[in-house]
Amino acid sequence: MITQVYPQIQLAIIQATPFCNIDCDYCYLPGRSLTRRMKWETLEKVAQRLLDNIDNQPPGTEIIASGTSCRHQITDLSNTRPKHMAELIAEALP
Ligand code: SF4
Repeated sequence: MITQVYPQIQLAIIQATPFCNIDCDYCYLPGRSLTRRMKWETLEKVAQRLLDNIDNQPPGTEIIASGTSCRHQITDLSNTRPKHMAELIAEALP
C-alpha cells in the first residue's frame, strides 16, 4: 500500500469564488465581479486533504475554526471536535 505524506497544514483559507455582489467603496479585492467557482471535484480533494491532516495531528492538538458550519463539518467528517478561538481563550483564562 502506498501512503502519500503531505506537509503539515498550519492554515487553510479556501476561496471557492472571487464573486461578491456587495461592492463596498473601500474594497481592494480584484476580480470580485467574476462568477467563476472552484470545481466541486477540486473542493472535495482539498477538503479530504484537510480532514486527513486533522485526523493525523498529534494528541492534544487544538483545531480552531471560526465558522460555525466549518466546526460542524469538521466534527461530522473527522475524529476531532474543533473549537472557536474564543473557546480556546476562555479555557486559558484563570
Ligand atoms: S470588502 Fe469587497 S469582498 Fe468584502 S464584502 Fe465588500 S465588496 Fe465584498
